[in-house]
Parts: sequence; C-alpha cells; structure tokens
Amino acid sequence: MKKLFDRVFDGADEMFALAQKTIDETIAELGESAPLAMPNTAYGLAVYSAYLAKNINTLGDLKAAFEEAKAWNRHDPRLKHVFSTGMGTFMAAETIEACKYAKGPDPYKGEYHGHLTDAEVRELGVPLVTDDIPGFVVIHGAAPSDEEAIELIKGYQTRGIFVFLLGEVIEQARRKELNMGFPVRVVAVGPDIWQVAHIISFVYRAAMIFGAVQPGDRWEFDDYTFYRIHAFVNAFDPVSDIVVACGAGAIAMGFPVITDDEKDMWRVPKSILIQKDTANFIETSLEARDIKIKITNIDIPVAFSTAFEGEIVRKKDMRIDVDGSKFETFELVRTAELHEIEDHCIELIGPDFDTFEAGSSIGFGMIAEVGGKNMQSDFEPVFERNFHNFLNCVEGVMHTGQRDVLRIRVSSAAYDAGFRAKHFGEVLYAKIMSEYDAVVDKCQVTIITDPDVLKKERADAKKLYDKRDERLGSLTDESVEVFYNCILCQSFSPSHVCIVTPERLGLCGAVSWLDAKATNQLDPNGPCQVVTKERVIDENIGIWEDVNECVFKSSHGSLEQVTLYSIMNDPMTSCGCFECICGIEPFSNGVVIVNREHQGMTPLGMSFAEMASMTGGGVQTPGFMGHGKQFISSRKFMKAEGGPARIVWMPKALKDLVRPKLDRTAQDLYGIEGFTDKIADESVTDEAEALLAYLAEQAHPALEMEPLI
Ligand code: SF4
Ligand code: ZN
Repeated sequence: MKKLFDRVFDGADEMFALAQKTIDETIAELGESAPLAMPNTAYGLAVYSAYLAKNINTLGDLKAAFEEAKAWNRHDPRLKHVFSTGMGTFMAAETIEACKYAKGPDPYKGEYHGHLTDAEVRELGVPLVTDDIPGFVVIHGAAPSDEEAIELIKGYQTRGIFVFLLGEVIEQARRKELNMGFPVRVVAVGPDIWQVAHIISFVYRAAMIFGAVQPGDRWEFDDYTFYRIHAFVNAFDPVSDIVVACGAGAIAMGFPVITDDEKDMWRVPKSILIQKDTANFIETSLEARDIKIKITNIDIPVAFSTAFEGEIVRKKDMRIDVDGSKFETFELVRTAELHEIEDHCIELIGPDFDTFEAGSSIGFGMIAEVGGKNMQSDFEPVFERNFHNFLNCVEGVMHTGQRDVLRIRVSSAAYDAGFRAKHFGEVLYAKIMSEYDAVVDKCQVTIITDPDVLKKERADAKKLYDKRDERLGSLTDESVEVFYNCILCQSFSPSHVCIVTPERLGLCGAVSWLDAKATNQLDPNGPCQVVTKERVIDENIGIWEDVNECVFKSSHGSLEQVTLYSIMNDPMTSCGCFECICGIEPFSNGVVIVNREHQGMTPLGMSFAEMASMTGGGVQTPGFMGHGKQFISSRKFMKAEGGPARIVWMPKALKDLVRPKLDRTAQDLYGIEGFTDKIADESVTDEAEALLAYLAEQAHPALEMEPLI
C-alpha cells in the first residue's frame, strides 16, 4: 500500500497542476487585469485571506498569490509540513474555483450551490450557538448504493447536522428526489473535489465574522476551527490521492475523516477512522468529533428535526392549508391551575384532516394550557412564539404567522404518512415539556377545527393578546428593576455580550427582555443573567455602573464600558448574527440601516456583507452597530445621537415591516407624521448624492440635526 504521506504529496501535486492549468487558461482568455470577486462576500478569497492575508482583486493578483501558495506544497514528511501541504491544496482548489467566478457571478447556474454568501454564514449564528446545528459533515464520493446515500444524508439531517455534499453523492440524492438546499441544511456544493474550497472558505469566514480572527493568523484559525467548528468528513471508497490531500488539510483544521476505504487508507487515531459499514458512519463520526445530540422523542409519524425548519411546502404538494386570511385561526399558551390540567391530554374539537378534500383551506386553533408552581404569565408569549419553531421542525409542515393570523401547510407526503390534527398537539406537548420543564409541570393541548368553537375561542384569545400588549407597552427600560445579559454567542464570539432591555432586544432579534427573563428563570446558571441597574451614571444615554461591571466580567475583561443608547460612544458590541447593521452616512448626518436579506447596495457604497464586515467578533466599532429589526422603532434607538430621526435610508421591505411602530415612535418623539416615508429606500436611490436630494425634498429631520462627527 502506498504510504499515506506520499498519497498526500501526489494528491497535492495533482491539485496544484490543475490550478496552474486553470489560471493560465483563464488569464489567456480574460487577461491579468480582469477583476476577480466572489459574490456577496466582504472577505474576498477567504482561504487565501486566512493563510496569506492576501487581498486578491484581479486575476493577476491571484496568479501572484498562487505562486506563494506553491511554497506550502512541501514534500517533507514532518507532520506540520504535511498539514501545510494539505492547506496549500485548499488554496489551489480555491484558485480553480475563483477562475470560474472570474467569468461571471453564477458559474453553476443553479445546478450546484458553489460559493456560499456571507449572509449564509451569518444566518447560522443563532442555530450554532443554541446547538440546533450541532455540527457539519462534508460527504464526498459515491455511497455503495443510492439507498445508503439517502439514509446517511437523512440520518444527519434529522440530527440537525448540516450536510455539505461533494461529487457523485449529489447525483445519488437527486435520483432519490431528495429535497436539497441551504434552508433544509443539505447543500449540493459541487461535482468535483475542488469545490471543497467553498466549504473551507465558509468555515474561515465564520472564524473571521464571529471570532474576529485576523487574516494571516494561521494558528488562530486552526484553533478556532478545532475548538468551535464541529465538522468532520465522510469519504466514500475509493478515496483518491487528491481527496487524501484535502483530507490532510481537513485534519489540520481539526476535522476527522471517516471512510469505508480499507484497501488504500491508513488508520490514524482520532484523524482517519475506517468504518467498513456505511450504516455506522454517523455513530463513528459523531463519536470521533465528540458531538452529543439531544433527542426529544415525539410520537408522530414523520421526522422531527431543526433541519426541516426552513422547508417549504409548495401549493401543489399540500394536503391541508390553514389559511388565516379566510378563516378563523389562532394559537395560544395560557396558564391554568394544576388541578385543571390533565397532563398529556390532547383533544381535537371538530373534524380531522381526513374529512377535508385534498388541498382544502381550513380554520385551525391550538391552545396549550400549562401549569406549574414556577409558571408566570410573562412566559406565555415566550412559549407561544416558539410554536413557530417547534412546528416547523416537523417534516412536511410549514408554519408562518403568529397569534390570531396563521398560515400552516401540511404536505400530502406527511398526510400519507399518517400525520393528523392531533399530532400538532403531540409536538407542542413534547417540546413544551422538554424545553420548559423547569417551570411547566403539566400541559394539555386542545386543537380546534370546528368553526363555531374556533370563533368563540379566538375571540377569547384576542382579549388575552390585548392584555399582553398592554403589559408589553408598559415595559420600558425605566419601568423595570433589572436588565439581563446574554452570552449565548460566546461559543463563537468569545468576548461578545448583549445587554437585553425591554426597549432593546438582542441583536439577533431572537431574544427580547421577556425571553431573557424566561431563560434566566429556566436555567439560573445559563446564558442570561440578571443585570441590576442601581448605580446610574447617565440614564438618558444609557450608562450604568452595574452594566459596565457586567460587560467587563462577561467579556472576560475585553470590554470596559457600554453606552446602551449610542452608536458613537462605547456602543454595544456585535457578534456576527445581527439581523441588521446600521452605519453612519456622513453627508446627511444620518444613518443607513440594512437587513441581512437585502442583496443590493446601500448609499454608503457598501452591501450588507461589506457593512457587516466593519464590525463583529465582540469589538466596539463606533459608527457601525449590529441590531435587531425591532430595535429600529424603539425610543432608545440612537437616543444619545437624537433617536430614530437619524435614519435616512433602509431597504423597502424593512421599512414596510417597521412602519407602524416607527411612525408611532416618531409621532411621539418629534411630532412628525408618517416619518417612515421620509426615509429613502432602494426604489428611490442607492447613491449618496440622490439620497441627499430626496431627503431635502422630504424635509427630513436629520438634515437639521447636530453633526454626528
Ligand atoms: Fe447572541 Fe445576543 Fe442573541 Fe444572545 S441576544 S443569542 S448573545 S445575539
Ligand atoms: Zn450572535
């Protein structure tokens, strides 16, 4: 058998030769000055950036960098040099891929995913820290059969593991009509091993975005990937030399390789594991990377996994359509006395799904009654909002909306598997009891499809929502005794800490003050701790000694002071998973806000990805700040600098989302009517000059405000 290191060297030579040929041909075609950029990223060629700190903007730059990369391909059998050969192989792979993108932003025409965007990296922030995604697997090659391929992929998917596919396994999955894509966490990256560059780029950008690892700091990157990215490789027999070379790079990053190729592969403890039976790949892999998976057993006939959260049920595939725009719909969590609740009782009032013709639109209600000694009515909306996450994890169920306007689809496949109305109750029961066991002792669920009962119960539910809104409205930073911190994101951004107040939710948009309070009660030693606010320094712009003490402690000394309501002086830090980024626009004296979903440019001449790269990793960057969407309409938004009147530009979709509350806030604070319309958007312009003209025309208040800098 050929020696393992020789296989690495031969494989690396193969990749370098192909890269040389590709770059020579591409330069012959486009010229050295041809621009080179990967789409929707602010990190350029991230693999080159991580190893060599190179800015590559043209094919000529790439050619020069590639010459440097060659020095990494050392045929020296000392372990650290074998690792460097493996990593060099990744640069060669990125060279090949970058040349494709030099010809246009979409070389795969939707057939393969190819390059992953910064927004995609950021989107994974919250599921990673909450362990909804416990790890990543890269599967390469062809499984012994299509069935085994599917079994493996779905096995990972149902465990929440994010799956990257490379090579023939993609065709196997396609033949089995597997639903793939970023939202369902199975990504068909590309047909060849060199597309591995996109996965490595993705991982290194995570390190730069969340961990603030600096370009060129190779050891820090190794450290980050080893400790914080729980990834591993499954390589099907036969494993060729070029795959072995990439495997050396993966192992250097801390990612073990599991393979069924016993003929030509060597075992290396903790790094290369041979598992003849592909049915045992999952177990062997999770053990090798030390990934533990929490499983909730739910008595339903279809799969349940966070991997299905982003799944879309199309009209043609739906059996049942719960339609809140035409029928009565609602969902509710309500506290009841323990003796009133029969634990795990699931009742259906009205006809079951069998009664409705395929594709019917119906009304639907869900009430979960919970009781427990430590239950508080403040937790009701927190649990209730999670119905959305719980139900979306069901394979074949899509849930949108909240409270008394819902849209739920049940797919024909789920129906055929036996999924019925009461299974909604099973899911809610199991999740409420497992997530909130610290405060919920008993739970019963009622599902309603009967129109008369729906009407009555929905009217009752509305009264409860109104009461809650009143309570929420009365919750201000001044009216509460304490704030909370959240350090959930520290698993990726070690020095980041959010201070969560009633008027400022966490920057991920997922943690409100009530959520933080509930998290604290559910797990007193968990990620959210009480922050007192007794020692006021300046309440007006949001400085407390208690808060400073807390950020100092929870950031392990890297942060001394935050001003909660300022973006210029000691602003709150950002991790990487913020919903929006805001940055100052110097000509208008205002700020531009852009949300992660927005693809286009902003008047700052930067896209979301570029603006987002200005901050992150738990450092303070005056002038740029990540925040949640709901914060935009808060009276505390940039209060120190004059408040939301500073907002001069937002994407239209974001404006529409925040309009009702933002208009109300501006009316209250400044007496301005219809303020949101004075804010420009991409339909007006994404250029600084035209922006100024629009603002002048609208008599936008920012123009009259004090200079920001
Ligand atoms: Fe991360 Fe802050 Fe959200 Fe907590 S509140 S999950 S620290 S972004
Ligand atoms: Zn985060």
